[in-house]
Amino acid sequence: MRPGVRPVLLLDLAAAGAATAAVVLAAGLPLAARGALTPLALALVVLAGAGAGLTFGAVLLFRAVARPVDRLLGAAERLGADARADALPLLAPPGERAAPEGRGVAGAAVAFERLAGALSEERVRLADKVGELERANAALLDARESLVRAERLATAGQLASGIAHEVGNPLGAISGYAELARARLRDGGPAALAQASEFAERIAAETARIDRIVRDLLDLARPSAPEVRPVDVRGPLDAALRLARAQPRFRAVEVTEYVPAELPPVLADEQRLAQVLLNLLLNAGDAMSGAGAVRVSAREDGAVIELAVEDRGPGFAVADLPRVFEPFFTTKPAGQGTGLGLAICRGIVEALGGEIRAENPPGGGARVVLRLRAAAGGAEG
Ligand code: ADP
Repeated sequence: MRPGVRPVLLLDLAAAGAATAAVVLAAGLPLAARGALTPLALALVVLAGAGAGLTFGAVLLFRAVARPVDRLLGAAERLGADARADALPLLAPPGERAAPEGRGVAGAAVAFERLAGALSEERVRLADKVGELERANAALLDARESLVRAERLATAGQLASGIAHEVGNPLGAISGYAELARARLRDGGPAALAQASEFAERIAAETARIDRIVRDLLDLARPSAPEVRPVDVRGPLDAALRLARAQPRFRAVEVTEYVPAELPPVLADEQRLAQVLLNLLLNAGDAMSGAGAVRVSAREDGAVIELAVEDRGPGFAVADLPRVFEPFFTTKPAGQGTGLGLAICRGIVEALGGEIRAENPPGGGARVVLRLRAAAGGAEG
């Protein structure tokens, strides 16, 4: 038993013994008065009663009080010591012993008060830590947003030269058709007018092509807050394909698309989904050195829409597969790859609550699969 508990228990035992003696004395006195009990016998009976009371009280107190109090004190000290190890000033003021030894039940109270103090201090520290973590998380989100924007601008910059070329061709055609139309109009006559109108149609078609490409490029570069809504995957896919096809390094790539007509819309940010698909298409073109076949497919899988971009290039190097989504991991020559493309794709897809994975399909080549949530309602707009 702990020394601190002992004096309290001894007092309790003395009280139990005295109480039993008093009861026995009270019962024995009338007998002694009637002469049935000699004073010596009465004293012996009272003493025996007191002894029995003491023994019974000792057993009872030890089992019901001493042991549990001992355990409580031990636990309080251990907890207090643990908290003190974290340097909690409230727990033990300098010069004072933290252990409640020598103070019995009062010691337990002190120990628990200290423990409560330590715990509330700990709670304050935890709240501080949670605040710190929340601030760090917000900063990380900010950094990720800037990275997505930076990569988008870099891609737009890389595409711009290809697009200048792509726009140059239709512009040449437009000025040619305009010249021809003018000549036919000068000629007059119904046949010449019909031809002039056909040239005007071609001018309109070429202008629309330029307009679409320029708008796709501007959409890609335009800073915008993510806006998640039901999106028909054909929109971002077409935009990504138009931009990719405008690139000389993609010109000899043949793309087959398989998007089921009844495919439900996906929950996504249209512009960012286009950014992801464009990145995957350009990677596929790079892997095949600008010539080969790419297949883009979409399918419904329960509450998920799965999009896959697959090429017939050499595939991912098996040793690289676990690392291709790491930021700055690239196997491309310096100046050609930043190693940020797939990392940012993953950031975008995960922010949409989806998943992305890279694999080498059994037939050869590389495949990147996006799994995004299907929208419960219909596509807007
Ligand atoms: P970057 O294209 O700038 O290298 P990415 O993060 O887009 O950065 O790609 C990381 C690496 O993943 C590439 O350098 C390449 O080694 C590999 N990779 C990406 N797409 C393909 C693909 N379609 N086929 C083979 N390897 C690929």
